[in-house]
Amino acid sequence: MKIQEVLQKSYDYAIKYTDKGVAANYIPELAKEDKHRAGGAIISKEGELYEVGSARYKFSIQSIIKIVIYLCVLENYDFDYIKKFIGVKPSSKAFNSIIELELSNKQIPVNPFINAGAIVACSLLMEKYGNNTFDMIINRAREVIEDDKLDFSRSIYSSESSSAFANRALTYMLLNNEIIDREINVEDLLNTYFKSCSILVDAVDLSRLSFILSRNGKDIENKQVIDPDHACIIRTLMATCGTYDYSGDFAIRIGLPAKSGVGGGIVTASKAGYGIGVYCPGLDSHGNSYVGTRMLESISKELKLNIY
Ligand code: GLN
Repeated sequence: MKIQEVLQKSYDYAIKYTDKGVAANYIPELAKEDKHRAGGAIISKEGELYEVGSARYKFSIQSIIKIVIYLCVLENYDFDYIKKFIGVKPSSKAFNSIIELELSNKQIPVNPFINAGAIVACSLLMEKYGNNTFDMIINRAREVIEDDKLDFSRSIYSSESSSAFANRALTYMLLNNEIIDREINVEDLLNTYFKSCSILVDAVDLSRLSFILSRNGKDIENKQVIDPDHACIIRTLMATCGTYDYSGDFAIRIGLPAKSGVGGGIVTASKAGYGIGVYCPGLDSHGNSYVGTRMLESISKELKLNIY
């Protein structure tokens, strides 16, 4: 089957399930999104782009930015040092769970792809970059997504900032346990994290990020955009932690490393060399796009991408 047909088939199959998902409602601005809007993009091994549905519709990247934030941390600190502050274990609770942080070994976040882990990652970056940290993150996102016009949504940022009760609780716990340096200003830290989550992307952008992660950090022109060792660590964490406490089910159903965000995007990494990104804002109970997951199930089956 041709790639365009694979993509169309996945869309036709998954779009029947739009009623099953619920747009994130703990961030009021995200609740306004139309859960019947879906799209996807695949870049073939040869670098050809294919699109379906609303592949150019802009939505907030949300947790998918945790890939870029952690990449920046890997680029600035030694891996063993980072592991003193952020683990590499799968999570068994929701992405904003307080009890998981409370019970974790040395009270460090279990991995960088849950909220507590990404907030600690931002704090490590702030120790080096201070109030320039968000600029550093968005500039690195522009490089690895290969779009120098990436910007963030002011309305989603302020909506998240005014409703981030769980993230504030997590941040104060991390400060209390001295996982975050007490010198760091909490509001500056959270603003860095919220702005990062509010960066606007579309499914085509996600397919470009996926393409680079899938090719060990090389873009279509064979430029090394991400260090191959870092790309490997990120793919591994995507496989084990990328869809939170659904990661085991996701591995069995789809068989690909992936990272989701509550904006409705999912980016994958496929050692077969494809770039794949999907979007639909209706989420399952774990915070992963319901329709997006079904699209990937179909794409993975048709292109025989299951790595297990
Ligand atoms: N900005 C969101 C939050 O902090 C990101 C969560 C997500 O995408 N899972 O709650």
